[in-house]
Amino acid sequence: MKMWACAGTKTILDGVRKPGWIKMMKDCHMNGFLVTSFDVTNAISIDDVVKVKHILDEEGFDMIGIGLPLGHPEGLDTPCYTFHEGWHIRRDIEGNLVRWCNAITPQLIADTRNHMEELRDIGIKAMFWDDDLRQGNYEGDVQGCFCDECLSEFSETYKAILPGPVSRTALKKLIAKVPVGLDEGQMSLREAWMKFNCDRVTRFMKETTVDGMQNGIMVMHRGDRRHGIDIADIRRAVPDCLFRVGELMFDDKSFEAPGNKRALVESVLRHMEQMGDISRIYSESTVYPHGALTPENLRQKIVLERKCGIENINLMGVERMNSVAYYEMLRDNYECFAEIQKEFTLETLDRVE
Ligand SMILES: [Zn+2]
Repeated sequence: MKMWACAGTKTILDGVRKPGWIKMMKDCHMNGFLVTSFDVTNAISIDDVVKVKHILDEEGFDMIGIGLPLGHPEGLDTPCYTFHEGWHIRRDIEGNLVRWCNAITPQLIADTRNHMEELRDIGIKAMFWDDDLRQGNYEGDVQGCFCDECLSEFSETYKAILPGPVSRTALKKLIAKVPVGLDEGQMSLREAWMKFNCDRVTRFMKETTVDGMQNGIMVMHRGDRRHGIDIADIRRAVPDCLFRVGELMFDDKSFEAPGNKRALVESVLRHMEQMGDISRIYSESTVYPHGALTPENLRQKIVLERKCGIENINLMGVERMNSVAYYEMLRDNYECFAEIQKEFTLETLDRVE
């Protein structure tokens, strides 16, 4: 088992200046850090990333990059704009902007690949694409980007099987809710749209993979092909791909709600079954917002993840684990976590509370 913690460059640069911070991380047996190196606002300085890399090297910690090229769904009051030429914000089935969620375009892939090369050149060996590399939000039905540009690209890609250009209205009938009674033609259009979106995510993973670095994707709670995530396809395209599983249940209320621990375990197990080699799988042991999952509930969450067989426990993120109690819990429970053997299977889910 390895412990990892996710943090921004500023958190680490500030942290190392505080007496005892490094020791606290070492006392927790932290193997390394996932460090945010690139986001949709392009606000992270590569010089800071280099500084962090040097510090972590000197202190004996591993470092993985984390990038957020697609942004993350936010509240309606969040400003919604894109910061890069050739990128665009997704539009939902009604044509409204999906705030802070970019569509995957060739320029977005080219820009993120450049960042991968930059990281590789400073000696970073792995990267995770985060929050979240997908084309749909949590729990929605089949999604994607329904802007005119993406609809034209879809119509062009599938022109051999389509009677003509596809409109948002035509797709709406097929994907607004779980479709019942669709005929064969409608089903194949629905499937083609899903494949179109999955192919974008898979293409992103393939084309941002550079020699000398492992590439990784986060798979959200219950994420699947409806959201553009086709794990089997991604593994074919990037055979040594890293995966993060889990998410959600990151505050006490959701973690303690009846049935949610089981839902968490079920999603993790279903994803792990498709991901293969467990040494490449990382957890999402998330506290969000600040302090919202108490140290005791975080401990219980890690126990569940260990019982699923996860070998890399990834704490998301250091900024929100804002009391020493978290680190004392991690220090005091490290041996106990390490000893836990895989126990849960999809067949024995009823053992989970
Ligand atoms: Zn679009």
